[in-house]
Amino acid sequence: PSAADRVAERIHVIPDFPETGIQFQDLTPVFSHGVAFRVLCEALVDPFEERFDILGGLEARGFIIAGGASLLTGAGVLPVRKAGKLPRRVITETYELEYGVAALEVHEDQLPPGSRVLVIDDVLATGGTALAACRLIERAGWQVAGVSVALELQGLGGREQLEGYEVYSLLQR
Ligand code: IMP
Repeated sequence: PSAADRVAERIHVIPDFPETGIQFQDLTPVFSHGVAFRVLCEALVDPFEERFDILGGLEARGFIIAGGASLLTGAGVLPVRKAGKLPRRVITETYELEYGVAALEVHEDQLPPGSRVLVIDDVLATGGTALAACRLIERAGWQVAGVSVALELQGLGGREQLEGYEVYSLLQR
């Protein structure tokens, strides 16, 4: 089977979670399967080979994939965290959710200037989260190498929001 098939067959779709009408894509069974997890991590970094210095994992499932990809590539991990978790001086980027606002943070001095960060997450939906991460990376003085996700939910405008950035998704639904 292809990398895409190996991952796809382990994504569970949960109707009406966390709210009615939402078909939640659960990737945790992919993480729990050693071979599928490795295949996923490889697939997300391959298109960007030699073009990034570090993997920017988005809290929380992006941390898992970035960690796996880190050991495959030798690149480290930049944890892009939700607000209030990092202990030193941070840069904060707020973004709109369907209901309310959220924020992502990085330590302002985490990486050398110009570092090329590959943004990693499990699912791309409206693109708000990934766009906030890209803005944060640029405001910190680093570069966005691209955005790489396991699954892109189509029709929600994610790719359009991320115009100007190279976006890769292993699967599209
Ligand atoms: P966006 O900001 O609308 O693109 O939503 C993407 C963020 O929400 C990512 O951090 C995902 O982990 C999470 N997310 C959105 N929809 C799903 C889903 O169906 N399954 C798992 N995570 C999701």
